[in-house]
Amino acid sequence: MKRLLPILLLALAPAALSAADFDLLIRNARVVDGTGSPWFRADVGVRDGRIAAVGRLDDTTATRVVDARELVLAPGFIDVHTHVEDEIENLPTAANYLRDGVTTIVTGNCGGSKPDLAGFFSRLEKLGLGPNLASLVGHNAVRRKVMGSDDRRATPDELAAMQALVDAAMRDGAVGLSTGLIYVPGTYAGTDEVVALAEAAARHGGIYATHMRAEGLGIMAAIAEAIEVGAKARIPVEISHFKIASPKLWGRADEIIAQVEQARREGIDVVVDQYPYEWSSTGLGTTLPSWALAGGQDKLVERLRDPATRGRIADEMVRDVKAEGYKDYSYAVVARFEPDPTLEGKSIAEINRLKGRKRGVKHEAETILDLMEQGGARMVFHKMSGADVERILRYPNTAIASDGRVIEHGVGVPHPRSYGTNARVLGEYVRVRRVLTLEEAVRRMTSLPARTFGFRDRGLIRAGCAADLVLLDPTRVADTATLAQPHGYSTGFALVVVNGTVVVEDDALTGARPGVILRHRR
Ligand SMILES: [Zn+2]
Repeated sequence: MKRLLPILLLALAPAALSAADFDLLIRNARVVDGTGSPWFRADVGVRDGRIAAVGRLDDTTATRVVDARELVLAPGFIDVHTHVEDEIENLPTAANYLRDGVTTIVTGNCGGSKPDLAGFFSRLEKLGLGPNLASLVGHNAVRRKVMGSDDRRATPDELAAMQALVDAAMRDGAVGLSTGLIYVPGTYAGTDEVVALAEAAARHGGIYATHMRAEGLGIMAAIAEAIEVGAKARIPVEISHFKIASPKLWGRADEIIAQVEQARREGIDVVVDQYPYEWSSTGLGTTLPSWALAGGQDKLVERLRDPATRGRIADEMVRDVKAEGYKDYSYAVVARFEPDPTLEGKSIAEINRLKGRKRGVKHEAETILDLMEQGGARMVFHKMSGADVERILRYPNTAIASDGRVIEHGVGVPHPRSYGTNARVLGEYVRVRRVLTLEEAVRRMTSLPARTFGFRDRGLIRAGCAADLVLLDPTRVADTATLAQPHGYSTGFALVVVNGTVVVEDDALTGARPGVILRHRR
């Protein structure tokens, strides 16, 4: 009889499981529901990947019960600005995102998406993902497919071909169109081209997310262009990584927020997103005049080997960097440079000295051109002021988004935002500086981005919504990734749940990959 008992228990177990009211029951949590309303105490029951009940659930049973005690239960964070397409197939768990409380990522930003979203989505579905994923269709990807990296306007036929590609991507489930108007080849397009492509996205109920033509000098005109696209194409606009990236304009965040508010008063739906750091990150090529990059790397190398052309490029760089208010390139730090990883973490000014060149912006421009000849580098730039970052964070229509990537732990010296964006807002800006309430910060990470990107059953703790949840300790949640040591995971997360499955427990991955592709539906 003794020997039979374990067998009996095994036989009974499946019946007992299915008889429970919930798969997961989180009892007695301080629920921050994503709306921005004050927290309330409740039990939250999860069944079949969805939130099944919220309230007092005393006489219910569950396969797993978690006592939340003083922890906060929030909807999983939705990060609408990422660039994961290059790495996610190798790193499908997306550990740096899950461990920062992110349960949904939107990729394809700044004009750079996979050109074939249907294929990309189906490969990811076979692989299984940590977080849920959606994608924009990128203007640069579409333009490159039709026109290469030519520095010219599109012909009517080319425009029609690009519109057809946007249309096809929207049918495949893209959430909207993205632009990266400082990057090749999108930078060669006029506003009319962007409007025409945004119209194709608007027909499917998509949004327009833009890395604007300028974020330093010229930012006001760039915001006006984003608003013009929204008005003409009748499409909601998300201005990506909203910031003032020029010392010459530091302290003027009120003015750019006023521009957005003016458009909203006129009935144009414009919102913004932001990462909570004073450093930006992008390619080194953005320090060169855009004409120098036309036609791709081979053409660039050709130009750099012609002394007269190289001189012209360097002169324009020196003029531009001075105009933005920098005295040299010490604000620019190498994040990833595959030909020589020893340069990672060093500024252009330091590398210039290492190369034995004289100090000064003129010589540093030459050092940049040397790196560009070897294929360029991913960079971190100290371009923002802390006061502007805080002012933009206070603006109620600012969503929190990392602008990050899926990171292979320990590789390179990437921007810390990929690891710590949400925990940094909750720790530094909510708990330490009290810039936002916890409820307001959570709203910016959940229901605000869900509203903008059309995730109708996510971003709230409400019966019927997908069970994307974060259980965190508000007294402890913090980012650990710094500029010097970026490979640090966030802490303070007791549970992260994606579609009802626990993916993080006590700041450790479970290894589960329950994320799904979120295809846009009209
Ligand atoms: Zn961008």
